[in-house]
Amino acid sequence: MRKVKMVGISKRMEGLDESVTLAITARAKDLRARGYDIIGFGAGEPDFDTPANIKKAAVGAIEKGKTKYTPVGGIDELKDAVIGKFKKDNGIDYSRDEILVSCGGKHSIFNLFLALLDPLDEVIIPAPYWVSYPVMVKLAGGAARIVETDETTGFKMTPEAFKKNITKRTKAVVINSPSNPTGCVYTPKELESIADEALKKGVFIISDEIYEKLYYGDAPIASIASLSQEARKNSIVLNGVSKAYAMTGWRIGYAAGPRELIKAMTNIQSQSTSNPASISQWAAVEALNGTQETVAKMAAEFKKRRDVMVEGLNSIKGVSCVRPDGAFYAFANISSFFGKRLKERAIAGSVAFTSFFLEEAEVAVVPGIAFGSDAHIRLSYACSEDDIRLGLKRMGEALGRLE
Ligand SMILES: *Cc1c(COP(=O)(O)O)cnc(C)c1O
Repeated sequence: MRKVKMVGISKRMEGLDESVTLAITARAKDLRARGYDIIGFGAGEPDFDTPANIKKAAVGAIEKGKTKYTPVGGIDELKDAVIGKFKKDNGIDYSRDEILVSCGGKHSIFNLFLALLDPLDEVIIPAPYWVSYPVMVKLAGGAARIVETDETTGFKMTPEAFKKNITKRTKAVVINSPSNPTGCVYTPKELESIADEALKKGVFIISDEIYEKLYYGDAPIASIASLSQEARKNSIVLNGVSKAYAMTGWRIGYAAGPRELIKAMTNIQSQSTSNPASISQWAAVEALNGTQETVAKMAAEFKKRRDVMVEGLNSIKGVSCVRPDGAFYAFANISSFFGKRLKERAIAGSVAFTSFFLEEAEVAVVPGIAFGSDAHIRLSYACSEDDIRLGLKRMGEALGRLE
């Protein structure tokens, strides 16, 4: 009998793991299905339903037979809605050939790194970072250069730290504001300093603004691309409807940037996925052009929950959390507990604490190591205030049992 050889997996996949955030969500779901009363702080998506006007637009698209291939980079109606959004919200003028609509924000970013990076090109990524940036950079053949940040700068990369990390190989820098996982938001002044430095050194700016609409501060914020004509020309803005409109399952994201780069990204998309789902595109047109009232309501709700979450975390002795100004995550420092024991077992590191909270408190969180910081855990407040209170109470009690 002929022996069947195991299929060989590419070298490219070495060290590439499943997204930790999605894995934790799946593990909590599994425990829940087995009867455990798990409180989920792991979610990376809004818990609200997609607004009714948006769903209706999708049903209308189906009924009108808008169910065929569309232009690869998105229908003109959606590109125009995106252009309108940039003009209204950010004061930036783009034309259709500077816009690409993809199958989710994640897909836009993946297209971008493939179109941008040559082997050994470096991309500066401030840590804590969104899980997928370094992996995508690596998949595209580039090298991620991680710049550590901590509470002392509100988890923001200073212009000095940025400058220090620029090398001859630096191609781009990623700014994610408001940030996943820390919720930090750069002020326009801070963005200006980063943009100045980037322009001086010829470093391309990648600005992931997917949480733009979930901002809770009073001071105005700005897109880094809106700061000057030079900044606009030297940057790409990534955004999408997933977070702002509770549309994670619809898979629509978009990018705005230099024509040649957008063209290259569109070509990659044309050879891989083709257009994003036609029905989702029509839903996204309504999301961007229709009433923005539901967004404001969701943001107001998130802001209230943020306060409950952050105050609750800081009232647990030994836990500290800087107040995030955007997104729906709290990034809490738990390192003061490292090395403490539960029934003889020493617990240290964010992964051990994630298991500890799941087992001892029936609360699902995400280990900070996934975002480049082992001293922290990420807690999503995309859940009810009651859940936040109960989950934190259980966590506090579990931590109290450590000796
Ligand atoms: C959720 C998220 C995205 C994009 O999500 P999609 O569901 O692919 O649109 C992009 N960047 C960050 C930081 C995110 O958290």
